[in-house]
Amino acid sequence: MGRRPAVTGATTLDPMAGLRARDRALLAVERLKAVYPALSELLHVNPFQMLIATILSAQTTDRSVNSVTPALFARYPDAAALAHADPRQVEAMIKPTGFFHVKAKTIIATSAALVERFNGEVPSRIEDLVTLPGVGRKTANVVLGVAFGVPGFAVDTHVKRLTRRLGLTKSSDPVKIEADVTKLIPPSEWTGFSLRLILHGRRICVARAPRCPECVLNDFCPSSTVRAKARRRPLTPTRRGVRLAHGR
Ligand code: SF4
Repeated sequence: MGRRPAVTGATTLDPMAGLRARDRALLAVERLKAVYPALSELLHVNPFQMLIATILSAQTTDRSVNSVTPALFARYPDAAALAHADPRQVEAMIKPTGFFHVKAKTIIATSAALVERFNGEVPSRIEDLVTLPGVGRKTANVVLGVAFGVPGFAVDTHVKRLTRRLGLTKSSDPVKIEADVTKLIPPSEWTGFSLRLILHGRRICVARAPRCPECVLNDFCPSSTVRAKARRRPLTPTRRGVRLAHGR
């Protein structure tokens, strides 16, 4: 089936096509909530492990990170231990995650900064987290949301792609995307929505050939290739806007 052009509200009678970005965002929050847990797939038991695992996850899979972190954290259980690690030993342990020279240097430097400036603890404010070596807003928001329960909307490559396909932003700048989406949904949904978009991007809305026929968002997604078939689903009003019946 060929890909259809994006549908806009101004050119069609399809009620789904006329949804505002806020309604599409809230619908997506509810639909994905019914399908995916709000979980990071990175193994961790505390904020330090979550921070280091998130840094290691750059340019690789969570599975790859999870294959090295149990041994890494058994040998270096906290920031003080990792801050004083031999870089060559760390490189050898994290090699499967790729870019191991840079990553070893970064996680050792991050650990040293935690010891020097935060008494060895991971700070729980984004303003502090982004001052650590190797920690940008994406990593900071993941750590905030997953390790501390503080609302944070992390924008990785999947979130960037899905929010554009869903018409929640027109930007390709992660900082702008974060600002756009967090205006559309309540803070209590930021972390879960980001984590679920990542899972949906990995499993269904993949980069090259999104699996729209299997997607629970396909009846209102402006980029869906199967809207004509799916748009018969009824809208269900809710206090927060509109919601569609769950399921496919
Ligand atoms: S309908 Fe297609 S393009 Fe839209 S979110 Fe689902 S898989 Fe992605």
